Amino acid sequence: MTQVPEVKLNDGRAIPQLGFGVFKVDPAETERIVTDALEIGYRHIDTARIYGNESGVGRALAASGVPRDELFVTTKLWNDDQGTQSAFDAFDRSLDQLGLDEVDLYLIHWPAPARDRYVDSWRALEAIRESGRARSIGVSNFLVPHLERLLAETSVVPAVDQIELHPAHQQPATVAFAREHGIAIEAWGPLGQGKYPLLELPEVTAAAEAHGKTPAQVVIRWHLQRGNIVFPKSNRRERMAENFDVFDFALDEVEMAAITALEREGRVSAHPDEVE
Ligand code: NDP
Repeated sequence: MTQVPEVKLNDGRAIPQLGFGVFKVDPAETERIVTDALEIGYRHIDTARIYGNESGVGRALAASGVPRDELFVTTKLWNDDQGTQSAFDAFDRSLDQLGLDEVDLYLIHWPAPARDRYVDSWRALEAIRESGRARSIGVSNFLVPHLERLLAETSVVPAVDQIELHPAHQQPATVAFAREHGIAIEAWGPLGQGKYPLLELPEVTAAAEAHGKTPAQVVIRWHLQRGNIVFPKSNRRERMAENFDVFDFALDEVEMAAITALEREGRVSAHPDEVE
């Protein structure tokens, strides 16, 4: 069985650095797809209430026979549920959908600053963590001003910030702030969601050829060597296996630098201040 490295979080817990994401995985197919991922060896699953597929994730986990303490499950608080009581209620619904007594990580999905409720929501997450039903808590799509406000007004430092991050959009300011405060970086859209032609760039294909690996494996490897936590998504079993098979090679410094130089502010999704 492949040994996936773990990243130590600021609350003392550990998270598998490579997992499987289920954004845009059809709820009707989620159980089958997550079952495939678990069979391949993934033990870290990243879902969200808004994906509508928590129950399929939960069914796959339950049927897998994998002991609960070997799994790492993340879900997220959707923007409409931000607030204190509404966050408690949304969390209960997510647990119910997942069929779990607790999640490993619960995140505020977007700061949604125009609603001005992320501080209240965070206080709810602090209480949820205190109750033991979320072992770790964190945020997603938070930029430096949002993180600064949380740090100033609340007491628990987020364990992670899950942000859009890939070679064409590396968010250096947010990453530097997070590292300075012990917040681990989770990179969503690690392959550029297939929207940015990352896998065709010569810097990526040259490294792939040199190592006898695929461009996707090279990009995942780049993330791992940068210290990012990643959970690429695929509906296809062969690609799930490909994306998991990244521990038998390493990019050298020149290859890493060439891929890091691909930064283009190539955001593939909305700016966090604009998502409500
Ligand atoms: P990814 O960067 O993981 O890209 C997924 C796309 O790449 C799919 O179209 C998939 O196609 C394709 N793909 C996967 N593997 C390969 C491969 N080996 N070769 C070529 N193409 C491949 O994007 P995601 O948006 O899914 O990001 C990963 C996870 O991050 C999500 O699933 C979700 O858990 C999380 N996320 C969080 C967000 C947030 O706001 N917090 C926002 C977006 C994502 P196919 O399925 O056909 O293989």
